[in-house]
Amino acid sequence: MPVTVNPDLQAIIDRITADMEGREDRGKVADYIPGLARVDPRHFGIAIATHDGRIISAGDATTAFSIQSVSKVFALTIALGKVGDALWKRVGREPSGNAFNSIVQLEAEQGIPRNPFINAGAIVVSDIILSGHRPGEAIGEILRFVRDLAGDDDISIDEDVARGEAETGYRNAALAHYMRSFGNIQHPVEQVLGVYFHQCALAMTCIQLAKAGRYLMLEGQHPETGFNVVSPTRARRINALMMMCGHYDGSGEFAFRVGIPGKSGVGGGILCVVPGIASIAVWSPGLNERGNSTLGSLALEKLAAATGWSIFNERDPG
Ligand code: GLN
Repeated sequence: MPVTVNPDLQAIIDRITADMEGREDRGKVADYIPGLARVDPRHFGIAIATHDGRIISAGDATTAFSIQSVSKVFALTIALGKVGDALWKRVGREPSGNAFNSIVQLEAEQGIPRNPFINAGAIVVSDIILSGHRPGEAIGEILRFVRDLAGDDDISIDEDVARGEAETGYRNAALAHYMRSFGNIQHPVEQVLGVYFHQCALAMTCIQLAKAGRYLMLEGQHPETGFNVVSPTRARRINALMMMCGHYDGSGEFAFRVGIPGKSGVGGGILCVVPGIASIAVWSPGLNERGNSTLGSLALEKLAAATGWSIFNERDPG
């Protein structure tokens, strides 16, 4: 199916949203983080920021949710800006084929996480962002960056979620201590985790998240200022990582069904990037067995089918 650059998006997402609202099988809301366990599984929202500046949305697109691991995309972008490709000495770029919080590969691979989108990799990224800062400053930098990308100063961090993560984050603490034993964490573990938990606790709506992802559809360019957030090469590489690693051990299945680079989080959000065409955010809190939004993935599959936006579809050779 050829790519449709300007389909009637509002009609398409209205139809998908009505379909999703009637679904019973929504998966299970993450309950290992106290603030997430309370979220109503009946939510569904979607927003699309298009290449030509339109914002189209349906469902609960203006309700803020915990973006959790979707934040790993923004944190990686900041860390690459600080240390450039030296980052890849401390974090790999291969799919893990393991759960997001798995510790097993770290022993065989000497404390170098497989990629920046699993927890271990994101914790190293937090360590990099912390360099030369106090934790509060590093957290402030991440918040300012995301607000600037979305062009929206109302974005905030849910302190309740961040605190809950700190109180129950035994697994993340284990990952951080373990990597520190290999010398791949350089700051005190409590500080690194403080940055990581706050970044995961960013609360955003689908509209804010779709807007924040626009630079990745625009070859790294900020849509409002025209400045490069990252170079075109780096934007392509971040999209490649999202394609290969954005859904943990469900990344192959997502590529198979949807065919669009995406990053999920246990809050039920997914950010997807169709290069040159659209930045898409969906949210539905119920998760599948791999920790990715059940209805979010299904809605994206339907959207890709209706628009031809899979990156494997035929493109106009120009
Ligand atoms: N904050 C969550 C954790 O560290 C993020 C995981 C996720 O969204 N997959 O467990």
